[in-house]
Amino acid sequence: MEKKLKRILTGDRPTGRLHIGHYFGSLKNRVEMQNSGEYEQFIEIADVQALTDNFNNPEKVRSNVREVVKDYLSIGIDPNKTTIFLQSMIPEIAELTVFYSNLVTIARLERNPTVKTELAQKRDVFGDSVTYGFLGYPVSQAADITCFEGEYVPVGEDQEPLIEQCREIVRKFNSIYGETLVEPKIVLSKTARIKGLDGNAKMGKSLGNAIYLSDSEDEIRRKVMGALTDPNRIKKDDLGNPDICMVAYYHKLFSSDEAVRKAVEECKKGERGCVACKKELAENIIEYLRPIREKRAYYDAHPEEIDRILMEGTEKARQTAKETMKKVKKAMRLDYFEGV
Ligand code: ATP
Ligand code: MG
Repeated sequence: MEKKLKRILTGDRPTGRLHIGHYFGSLKNRVEMQNSGEYEQFIEIADVQALTDNFNNPEKVRSNVREVVKDYLSIGIDPNKTTIFLQSMIPEIAELTVFYSNLVTIARLERNPTVKTELAQKRDVFGDSVTYGFLGYPVSQAADITCFEGEYVPVGEDQEPLIEQCREIVRKFNSIYGETLVEPKIVLSKTARIKGLDGNAKMGKSLGNAIYLSDSEDEIRRKVMGALTDPNRIKKDDLGNPDICMVAYYHKLFSSDEAVRKAVEECKKGERGCVACKKELAENIIEYLRPIREKRAYYDAHPEEIDRILMEGTEKARQTAKETMKKVKKAMRLDYFEGV
């Protein structure tokens, strides 16, 4: 008998290329789960969600769709094992969002900590008055997950309140219309949130503080040189505090345990300058990302493969979404002409 695979649903907004925050926070987990043979994985390119705060820049969203797919393939997502699809081409998600919007109050959305943080960062887009679409994006994200009956959602820590909100919607739906939907669980990686080059609590593509998986060697060097270090350290032999230094922080992700120990010790004693420390880190990042950059170069040269993968994945995802919607409509007494 064929083993029943557990369903994973995750995704990314096509608002830019993917960075090392995505890699350690979510992508690495996805590849491990994909290769474990235990799961069936769907990955959504959330172009509709990206438009909620980029509605006035559709070209940005469109042009990043293929970039994100290239990032996936270059880190080891295998389209034969994982279904990659485009949100806007699955109308069932939009339909489900409308049904869910009856189950969520405005006050609950306004209290969502992720929405609150993001709104504070997006005052240039929304000013004092947020759109209905942006405030409601957690509802649409709940539809993304449940349309595919996602049981596990491997995402970064910033997504926790959104998954919680999704679980609430599922419980409410099931309590009103009967047990229909699957309540998803979040899967956090060991390094759940990666900080930005500027010391911001989150590296984000919309925050301008990221090292991208596709950055060139020179870009990586330049960015590392500009990373935030201990501000109290002016001269090379001042005693440093690696706990407030982004260079020490990234060393822990990209350098060997021995190299990290040495860097921390020498910094604390004032025996290593920040410039030397940054140069060492930059070279380690360059080496770490080399296979990813090389694989990406292949896909840069083969755009037709990207289109085929997206089209086939979207077709497959649509079938799954249609099956879920059948169950949803039946539960909601909207299955008018079934069996006619
Ligand atoms: P934007 O700034 O446009 O929202 P983003 O960088 O937040 O972009 P998303 O597409 O919103 O990226 O998020 C995709 C996934 O990557 C989510 O699971 C999110 O939790 C994860 N993620 C994003 N940034 C980080 C980070 N700095 N550390 C860990 N995980 C992250
Ligand atoms: Mg985000």
